[in-house]
Amino acid sequence: MNDLLTVLATRPLLCDGAMGTQLLAKGLTSGECGMLWNTGRPEAVRGVHDAYRRSGCNLLTTNTFGGTLSALERHGLAARMAELNRAGARLAREAAGDTGWVLGDIGPFGDFLEPLGDMTADELRAIFRAQAQALIEGGADALLVETMSDPAEAETAIAAAKDCGDFAVVATYAFQKTGDAEFRTMMGTGVGEAVERAIAAGADLVGANCGTALSFPDYLELARQLVRAAGKTPVILQPNAGAPQVIGGETVYLATPAEMAAIVAPLVDIGVRVVGGCCGTSPAHLAAMGHAVSTL
Ligand SMILES: [Zn+2]
Repeated sequence: MNDLLTVLATRPLLCDGAMGTQLLAKGLTSGECGMLWNTGRPEAVRGVHDAYRRSGCNLLTTNTFGGTLSALERHGLAARMAELNRAGARLAREAAGDTGWVLGDIGPFGDFLEPLGDMTADELRAIFRAQAQALIEGGADALLVETMSDPAEAETAIAAAKDCGDFAVVATYAFQKTGDAEFRTMMGTGVGEAVERAIAAGADLVGANCGTALSFPDYLELARQLVRAAGKTPVILQPNAGAPQVIGGETVYLATPAEMAAIVAPLVDIGVRVVGGCCGTSPAHLAAMGHAVSTL
């Protein structure tokens, strides 16, 4: 298989979309740990990966967002950390085949680093490293440090991923709009600082996923700022299916596949090299986006 970064230099690639909502649609209950399905309902997780792969996604993300020891501890699953991460990577590996890439998904550890919290950077690095190692053992080609708010946590996770060997590391932050054309993470970090610190820590691809209440024009502006800040480092963007709406007390994302496909060409024009989806996206959204990528 070709090296991800080499291929990326020649053509834009498509990453996949949401996993959690797909599992909820298959019967996962909202309090349940979705990672348990990597061993308990592997055919359901594999089915989501297969659907994204059929939609044309080149990169599949493992079902391991909450897979740090500290996040699993809250479900009483700390003892199964390595097993659940390995199983998650294996399922994505099977679906990706020889021509797709598996991104081993690493989400936030769920608390604050010192001095706001009790966790030291060294302790956290060991926690992230153990997850990254299990993902690689299961067959991940690269590691995805995602939905980050604290650049210090992102740096720690990127460094931990790099500890595991010569694997590409992708890092994405979740931004919210705080001014006219200004974006910050929940911790208050701006785009420039977030991107620079991720690259300095060793990230090979940087960008944003998810975000709070961002519209498509917001994502386009965010993309411009990310590309500017990233310089020569390729940029990834995984928007939600439009700005959320609250209907009956529930937050829903209602952009159609066609609406999401319509922002693909502008994003690639701006300089984004990997597009994908976050909240509210489905294989149907990604299929429409994949068609848009293929016609560029
Ligand atoms: Zn999201």
